[in-house]
Amino acid sequence: MDIDKKVVTRMAPSPTGRFHVGGIRTAFYNYAFARKHGGTFILRIEDTDKERNEQFFEDEIYEVFKWIGMEYDEVYRQSENLQRHQEVLRKLIDTGAAYEAENANDGSGKVIRFKNPNKQVSFNDQILGDITVDTTDLGDFVIARNIESPLYHLAVVIDDHDEGVTHVIRAQEHVANTPRQILLHEALGYGTPVYAHVPFILGPDGKKKLSKRDAHVAALDYRDEGYLPEALLNFLSFIGWNPGTEQEVFSKDELVKAFKLEQVQKGPGGYNLEKLTWLNKQWLNKMTDDEFYDYIDPLCDELRDMPIYSEDIMKKIIPIIRERTSYLGDVKTMITEGGLDYYFVDPEIDSKKVVWKTSTKEDTVTHLQKIINLITKYTGDWNKDNLKDLIFPYAEEVGKGDVLWPLRFSLSGREKSPDPFTLLEVLGREIALKRIQANVEALKKSPV
Ligand code: GLU
Repeated sequence: MDIDKKVVTRMAPSPTGRFHVGGIRTAFYNYAFARKHGGTFILRIEDTDKERNEQFFEDEIYEVFKWIGMEYDEVYRQSENLQRHQEVLRKLIDTGAAYEAENANDGSGKVIRFKNPNKQVSFNDQILGDITVDTTDLGDFVIARNIESPLYHLAVVIDDHDEGVTHVIRAQEHVANTPRQILLHEALGYGTPVYAHVPFILGPDGKKKLSKRDAHVAALDYRDEGYLPEALLNFLSFIGWNPGTEQEVFSKDELVKAFKLEQVQKGPGGYNLEKLTWLNKQWLNKMTDDEFYDYIDPLCDELRDMPIYSEDIMKKIIPIIRERTSYLGDVKTMITEGGLDYYFVDPEIDSKKVVWKTSTKEDTVTHLQKIINLITKYTGDWNKDNLKDLIFPYAEEVGKGDVLWPLRFSLSGREKSPDPFTLLEVLGREIALKRIQANVEALKKSPV
């Protein structure tokens, strides 16, 4: 693509609904294209539909841009340009390019129509290729409700011109609007921008457009679900585009560098939540433990309320939680299913389950007592490697399952948990001894 002017792109959302996750992709293509060519990226809030605009939706747009890290160089609200739109409309009427007419569609009084020159309009869409439309079929289309109220086609053309927009990169649903807008650009003596229409995102069935039934469509729902902005951006950018290399994890800056508008696919792109979760894990892996703790912090209040909660243990289990986490939902599940309880509350004793399936109650008591002995006398550094060196030889000698199962079960009360040496390290000598001792007592009293 030859680019001789300074590039100016824009994202022009209407604050009439929640900002769609696909909007991040379209916005980012605009952002990346501008950044890559040393241009300007504009955010224009198209807030001219007074009945459907809501401040909440407008604020959400700013929030999404901030969260993803798409800094815009200029921001406009279309409603602030109303006077200018009215002036241009008057000029179109004065020169005979537009006229007032009955609204034939619903008979609700007068509207202002554009005098269609009825010609073929051709443009080279940077994604979809050459498009030619005979605009005769469009008739004299409406461009304003009345002299005070210009409508979308006119407003968008004037703003794109006034803001110096060189490249209009927007959702494919607008491709049918483009011939009308080109006619207006021409009638006003403006040059036409370059157009690129981004194909929509398919739902997981690979057939229909992504909808609420398939997944979240509101961009911020992904934040609230605990997806990282880096992962979501990485994921969305790759729907219907990829730079053709093996690399899959891209930072925002890397995406900008690699992005080529003409590489965006013509066909709709597929959405695959597993891919997003996988990417999220890759981005989580880049965090330090402290950053990870901050990430899951909002979920940890429930743990903090537990009887023997300690910040020390919490910090020690961060790497264990991390290993099992692809996104925040995994941590939520761990907590609600009680998978972390045993760190902060002494588990219930079960004198049947603590005995290994091929072992006996008496042997289990012997083994646990042996471990108590070893641990009590042990004076070295309290870490899982040393504790393994301390206990493992005995387990190998008399039977691994016979020794390690009751040890792990005494510590966690669960059939699944990290290995016993990790548990010993995390819980510390005092809590560990108490739990093992309690199991020995219970086994001695137990009738079976
Ligand atoms: N305001 C329009 C929308 O939210 C976009 C207009 C455009 O990109 O030209 O769909």
